[in-house]
Amino acid sequence: LGNAPTEVKELAQAFNIMLSGLGDAWEQQRQFIGNISHELRTPLTVVSGYLQSLLRRSNNLNDYQREALETAGAEADRTVRLLQDLLDLARADSGYTRYHLEPLLLNDVVSEVVDMNAKFGERSIQITATENVEAIVDRERLKQVLINLLDNAIKYSTAAQPIDLIVERDEKQAIIRVRDRGIGIPLQDRGRIFERFYRVDADRARTTGGYGLGLAIVKTLVEGMGGKIMVRSTVGEGSEFTIVFQQ
Ligand code: ADP
Repeated sequence: LGNAPTEVKELAQAFNIMLSGLGDAWEQQRQFIGNISHELRTPLTVVSGYLQSLLRRSNNLNDYQREALETAGAEADRTVRLLQDLLDLARADSGYTRYHLEPLLLNDVVSEVVDMNAKFGERSIQITATENVEAIVDRERLKQVLINLLDNAIKYSTAAQPIDLIVERDEKQAIIRVRDRGIGIPLQDRGRIFERFYRVDADRARTTGGYGLGLAIVKTLVEGMGGKIMVRSTVGEGSEFTIVFQQ
């Protein structure tokens, strides 16, 4: 801006001040969400624990009492998960999420996810893995990503519709695909499902109990590890989420 007219310099300066103000406001908002999520999560976890222990220990509850405790417990758990998601996002935004990147065999990570999560055993998840596909990733974060995508594949399809988990590579990249044969995602929503709190047709999804944060976290984590995520889908036929890591 050396020789620029004074007006331009003043404008640039004003713009800089505005930008740094915006940065501060964003940082304050992030901290606020992080703090409040943390403060609420602790007592709610206690509430949830007591509700579970009441349910376990009381053997003479009538139907109404049992249902009330179960509903309160399920809602407390759902809210704890929401707060955990908000904390994860606040951390990622602040750059505090640390990634322990190391070269790993994707086949191993994928099998670990399916073997270690009993809930996935109840559904047919078919793993098709090319051997020795390696990528530089954070094992725990990648597992979190895959668990989220598999949870969705299960939520948005029926028990009779199998799910595929595929590991492959091309010349330049390692690829993981999570494919379901469920309800699919309408074209007009496809570009927005990775946004925070975005849910396709709240009515259709209400019974499944999410808040629309799962895919926002997935995208943040994948990109944090240097990867990319894409989706292809046909309504009524299913969806496929593809993650790629450059090799
Ligand atoms: P949640 O599942 O908690 O609502 P997500 O961020 O995981 O939130 O997903 C956002 C939206 O994208 C969901 O509400 C759902 O409508 C849609 N979606 C995600 N995964 C799938 C899938 N495998 N099949 C169909 N729709 C999906």
